[in-house]
Amino acid sequence: MIDFPPGFAALSVAVVGLCVGSFLNVCIYRVPLKRSVVHPGSACPGCGRALAWYDNLPVFSYLALRGRCRGCRAPISARYPIIEALTAGIFLWHLAVFDLTPLFFVRVAFASALIVLFAIDLEHQILPDRITLPGIVIGFACSFFLPPGPIASLTGLLAGGGLLWGIAEAWYRLRKVEAMGFGDVKMLAMIGAVLGIRAVILTFVLSSMLGGLVGVVLIATRRADLATKVPFGTMLAAAALVASLYGEAIVTWYLAKL
Ligand SMILES: [Zn+2]
Repeated sequence: MIDFPPGFAALSVAVVGLCVGSFLNVCIYRVPLKRSVVHPGSACPGCGRALAWYDNLPVFSYLALRGRCRGCRAPISARYPIIEALTAGIFLWHLAVFDLTPLFFVRVAFASALIVLFAIDLEHQILPDRITLPGIVIGFACSFFLPPGPIASLTGLLAGGGLLWGIAEAWYRLRKVEAMGFGDVKMLAMIGAVLGIRAVILTFVLSSMLGGLVGVVLIATRRADLATKVPFGTMLAAAALVASLYGEAIVTWYLAKL
C-alpha cells in the first residue's frame, strides 16, 4: 500500500475531473450533430483554427484568453469553463461520499453521462440514444459486481422505463399530445439500471418535485406559461445525481418514518 500525502487523492480527482469535463464539452457539442467525439481535434467554430494544447487546457485557457478565440477573437461560450469546473466539483463530491472505491468510478462515469444529457436536453430538448442505450447496458453489466446488484438493476431498468412509458402512453391517449419523448423513457431506464429499483423511484419523485418547483418559479417570474415545456431530462439528471450520492440514505430514512 502506498501512502499518498494528504490531499493527493483530492488534487488528482480534481485534475481528472477538469480533463473529463473538457471531453464532456466535446460530447455536448458534437453528439447532437451526430459527429465523432474523438476525431478531428477541437477547432474554433468561428474561424476553423485548430486549437493548440495550450488553448485547450480546462478553465485556465478560457481565463487566459479572456473568453475569446486566439485567431478571430470570436467569443467562446462560457459553457466550456462552467462544465469543466462543474465536472471537477461533482467528481470531488463523489470522492467525499464514496472514497476511491470501485463504486466511485462507476458513479463518476454515470455522473458524466448525466452532465452531458443535462446540457444537451437544456439546449436541444433531446436525449440522444448514443448515451442512454450504452448507459443501460453498462449499468446492468456493472450491477453483477457492484451495488445495486443484478436483480435491483433489472427491476430498476424495467420500472424506470415502464413507468415513464406508461405515463407517456396514457397521456397520449387522453390528450392526444405527447407529454414527453421516448428519450426520457430511455434515460430513466438507464438511471434504473445503474442505481436500482429503490433509487430510480426516488429519482422519479425528486425530479417531479423539482420540475414542479422550477415550473412555478418560471411562471411566477413570467418567464414561462402553463404550455411551456420544461425539459424533463434536466430534472431527471439533477435528481439522479442526488439519488446516486444519497439515495440509499434517503430511502432508508423515509422507510424508517413509515
Ligand atoms: Zn476563431
